[in-house]
Amino acid sequence: MGRLVRAYDWSRTGLGPRDSWPRSLLTTVDLCLASNFPIAIAWGPDGVQIYNDGYMPICGGKHPRSMGQSFRECWAEAWGVIGDAYEQALLGETSFLENQRIFLERNGYLEETFFSFSFSPIRDETGGIGGLFHPVVEMTGKMLSERRTRVLKDVADRTAKAKSADEACALAAQTLADHGTDVPFALLYLFEDKGRSARLVGVTGLDESGFGGLTYVDSTSSASLGWPQLEAVYRSGRAQELDDVESRFGKLVTAPYAEAPKSVLMLPITPPGAERPIGVLVAGVSARLALDEVYLGFYDLLTAAVTAAVANGRAFEEERRRAEALAEINLAKTAFFSNVSHEFRTPLTLMLGPLGDMLSRYHSRLDGEDRSDLEVIHRNGLRLLKLVNTLLDFSRIEAGRVQAVYEKTDIAALTADLASGFRSLIERAGMQLSVECSELSGAVYVDRDMWEKIVLNLLSNAFKYTLEGKITVKLSQSEGHFQLSVSDTGTGIPEDEIGHLFERFHRVEGARGRTHEGSGIGLAFVQELAKLHGGTVSVESVYGHGSTFTVRMPFGTAHLPKGLFGASQTLAPTSHGVAPFVEEASRWLPGSDGGVAHFTGSSLLASPAVAPGNVAATVGARIVLADDNADMRKYVGKLLEGQGWMVVAVGDGEAAV
Ligand code: ADP
Repeated sequence: MGRLVRAYDWSRTGLGPRDSWPRSLLTTVDLCLASNFPIAIAWGPDGVQIYNDGYMPICGGKHPRSMGQSFRECWAEAWGVIGDAYEQALLGETSFLENQRIFLERNGYLEETFFSFSFSPIRDETGGIGGLFHPVVEMTGKMLSERRTRVLKDVADRTAKAKSADEACALAAQTLADHGTDVPFALLYLFEDKGRSARLVGVTGLDESGFGGLTYVDSTSSASLGWPQLEAVYRSGRAQELDDVESRFGKLVTAPYAEAPKSVLMLPITPPGAERPIGVLVAGVSARLALDEVYLGFYDLLTAAVTAAVANGRAFEEERRRAEALAEINLAKTAFFSNVSHEFRTPLTLMLGPLGDMLSRYHSRLDGEDRSDLEVIHRNGLRLLKLVNTLLDFSRIEAGRVQAVYEKTDIAALTADLASGFRSLIERAGMQLSVECSELSGAVYVDRDMWEKIVLNLLSNAFKYTLEGKITVKLSQSEGHFQLSVSDTGTGIPEDEIGHLFERFHRVEGARGRTHEGSGIGLAFVQELAKLHGGTVSVESVYGHGSTFTVRMPFGTAHLPKGLFGASQTLAPTSHGVAPFVEEASRWLPGSDGGVAHFTGSSLLASPAVAPGNVAATVGARIVLADDNADMRKYVGKLLEGQGWMVVAVGDGEAAV
């Protein structure tokens, strides 16, 4: 620049030839040229411009004409912004402007730029102001980068709550409306029909007369609709640039400038894992910015932000759809359980009633075998009924159709009574039962049937999973609550199973107990019943040493739904008291029908025709039969024995071995 300044014919300017310049000007020019910082000097009444190397890029395409040009003339398009500061300095007052937005015509178009600069007066030999000293830094890169970061943050923030892909696009478009300087317009399309068409789901910066009118685009006949690149974007998954916007669509007028956007980018929205784009962001490029690498990088990030939002929206939609489908299945299942258990109940009840009557009426007249058969039928009918009732109760709870009737209850007496129903069974098994139910100080409201089911389920579990030692049923109280705990010295529960124990149908695989029978619904049921009382159930267990189940409920009625005190049930009750529980549990005892039973095979083959071929060849041999259900064991044993085999029936596989 020094060379240029020296070679320049200054006599053509108001400054006159260089050797006529005053000392002050020469010194200032030397100072300017020697500096690395962008500096210009405007000297004399015309403000003739002289500048250094650093300043040259600021002039852009104006250089070299800008050297020696009148400052006012050179920066005419910026005068609205910088004029005041300039004139002010000529009057002797230094001015400083920071991050000033200026539109400069330096590269063949009006360009959005930012500068920080000052004008300060330079005194000459006369003591007056000979010219202005003008250091300047271009801030365009920094300012644009900050602004674009805000755009990206805004898009991410405002689309975060989108609950569908459509909503994400609409929100992204809305957000971009506030950022027209970087994104003059945006259209968001989502592909349909394997990319053959695209549906407009968000638009900003354009009205219906522009692309905004292209609400639905058929990419196969795209030429007529003006989206030749749409299918290419779908197929290639790569961004495309349309630079013949005007010839294709006519002049597009968008905010904030009078000039139409320079070109249009078609950016694929491809969520991670998707093979093809699921949509396209069609974005205008500012007419007043160069589409350089940095600007393109911004569009990449913008596309990534929109893609993330669309992907999240889609995930949310899918999640909701899945949840709805699950809820529907659940509802159907609940209805099914409810109907089926209801249907099972009626005939069962009608069979069990008369059967029970018959057993008591003809008790003395029936011979031992017939009576025993009828008792098996009766017992197992009751067991089935109990199971069906539990399912029915459970589905009623799930369907929100359960009717609890909360009554003021002497919970200590009720609990002790229920627990003592198990005493003789527990003692017969060689164990101890301890019942510690002293009076509580607060008023207790429970649905008695439900309380009964809670106690009996926990107690029969304790019995099922405890082979020796002691079972303790205890009532206690603490700060507004009362607690029932059922402890045992049983097999305990492995630590990693504890979290799943109250899930319905969950059973601990390979748990040791008196029987393997069970549906895994008992504890889930207890939990639901506790919840209906505003309570909770929890468990503490040491594997191999025992478990304690604790049900905790508040005193009083404040936690209970209003209007359900002392009302009467309208649904058929499903409770049958202690008997079915004890009856069922007693079948797990190695006792009358349990343990090792020998069937002697005394009554050999009544009708040989029943056992043809090689079956007949084994008649008289010994069969070891293992089944954990005592009735089943006895029944099958008897059948085999009747056919001529010797049968040894045992309660489990280990005993069989
Ligand atoms: P079920 O007894 O029909 O299997 P539950 O829901 O009552 O179903 O119990 C679920 C599982 O929890 C049982 O399979 C058993 O493994 C475990 N469990 C329940 N109570 C006890 C207990 N007192 N001691 C040890 N394990 C228990």
